[in-house]
Amino acid sequence: MHELGITRGVVEAVLDAAGDSRIIRLRLEIGRLSGVVTDSVRFCFELAAEGTSLAGARLEITEPGGRAECRACGREFEVDSVLALCSCGSANVALIAGQELRIKEVEMA
Ligand SMILES: [Zn+2]
Repeated sequence: MHELGITRGVVEAVLDAAGDSRIIRLRLEIGRLSGVVTDSVRFCFELAAEGTSLAGARLEITEPGGRAECRACGREFEVDSVLALCSCGSANVALIAGQELRIKEVEMA
């Protein structure tokens, strides 16, 4: 499962940074266009965190919506798919938000 690898990577990065401190809360940002299923991340998190200092930590996930900028007319607009089309008819658009996958905050005990 795609999400298990991602979640393991997140858990490892947090454990590396936290040393021996116990972690009580972790906040992730997973964009709506990232293709990552947040419910799966929650499920995988329990497994990946088990037996580590992240076990029992509260996992919070924020899901920023997608935004794109049209290279033809410069308009910025919301998108709900990676296959974005500007209202001017151009498909030459750059996604500027919604694909992020980041660790936003780690709270240690
Ligand atoms: Zn346009």
